[in-house]
Amino acid sequence: MLKKILSFIIVFLILFPLPVKANETFLDYPTSSVDHHKQYLSFKAMLDDPSLISYWAWRKSSEQVLSAPSQNINFKIYDSPNVIITNPYPLNSINLAAKLYYQSNPPTDVNLLRYTYSDIYWAESVWSNAFLEYPSFKNDVFNACKNQYSCHGGFAGFNSLKQSWLGLASMHSNVKSPNHYSGTLEAHEYVHTIQQSQMYKSPYNFNSLPIWLPEGQASYAQAASVYYYSFDLYIKEKNRIISSLNETYDWIQNFLTLSFDTSKNVSATFHQWRPYDVGFLVVEILTAYKGPTSVMNLYKEVAAGKTFEQAFYSQYQITWNEAYPLISKIIYFQIK
Ligand SMILES: [Zn+2]
Repeated sequence: MLKKILSFIIVFLILFPLPVKANETFLDYPTSSVDHHKQYLSFKAMLDDPSLISYWAWRKSSEQVLSAPSQNINFKIYDSPNVIITNPYPLNSINLAAKLYYQSNPPTDVNLLRYTYSDIYWAESVWSNAFLEYPSFKNDVFNACKNQYSCHGGFAGFNSLKQSWLGLASMHSNVKSPNHYSGTLEAHEYVHTIQQSQMYKSPYNFNSLPIWLPEGQASYAQAASVYYYSFDLYIKEKNRIISSLNETYDWIQNFLTLSFDTSKNVSATFHQWRPYDVGFLVVEILTAYKGPTSVMNLYKEVAAGKTFEQAFYSQYQITWNEAYPLISKIIYFQIK
C-alpha cells in the first residue's frame, strides 16, 4: 500500500545541473539544407539514415507549440523570504511545455515553490499543505536542499485537487547554471505533472512504465519546448543533457531491456543520469517518428489498463521487442 501511495504521484529530483559541453556540433549541415519532405516512415528508416532524427523531432515539436491554442494557466508563485531568483519569467517555459502537449489536456492550476536553505522549514510547510495525503513528500524539500552549498534542482507533484506543484531549490551559484536561468528546469518539472495527470485516479502508475520514459520525456521536452524557435539552441541543450553518456551498444540494449522490468530494483545497476540521457534519445526518436503527443499517449493508455507493450504497439505499430534493438542501434550511432 505504501509503495502504491508513494508511486501514485512520483516526485522527481534533479540533483545536479549538467555541465555545458563547449564547441560541440552535432549536425554538420545547416538547417536550411534539410529536405523538408523526407519524413521517417519507420524506425528502420531512421537506422538507415539517422541524420535527420533530431531535426524531425524538433520540427514536429516546434510546430505543435506554434499551432497550440493559448493556455489559460492559473499560476501562483510561493517565494520564500530569502529566495534567490534565477529565472524571473518561470511562466514562459511552463506555458511552452503546456503547448507542446496541449493535446493531452495539461494541468492548468500550477503552483511554484522557490526557497533557500535558510527558509527550508517555511518551504516544507507550504509543500506539506499541498500534499496532506502524502506526508512523506516533504522529504523532497530537504533532499533538494541539503545545506546552503547544495541547494539546487527541482521536484514536482500532482495532487488530488489536480494541482501541479513545482519545487525549485535555490542558492547563489545557481545563477550560473543554464538549467536554472533558462526556464528548462521549470518546463521539465511541469512536464512530470502532465505525465502524472494522464494517470490521475488510475490503479496503474509509473511503475508500469519503463524507467527511461518519465525522465527521458521531461528532459526531451525541456529542450524542445523552451527552444522551439531555434534548432541550433535545441541541439545545444540536447548535447548538454547527453554530455556524460558514453555506453556501448550492448549496454544500451541491455538497459532498454532491463529498465522495462520494473519488478526488479535495477536502478542500482546504472548511473543516475542514464534514465535522463538515454531516455532523451529514445523519446527524441519516438517524437521524430510520430510527434510529441504519441509519447504522452503511452501514459494515458497504460493508465487505462494496457501494458506498456500494448500501448507502444498502439502508438507506433511495431512491437517493443522489434523496436528496441533498432532504437538501441540508432542511439549508439549517435553517441559513439
Ligand atoms: Zn525529472
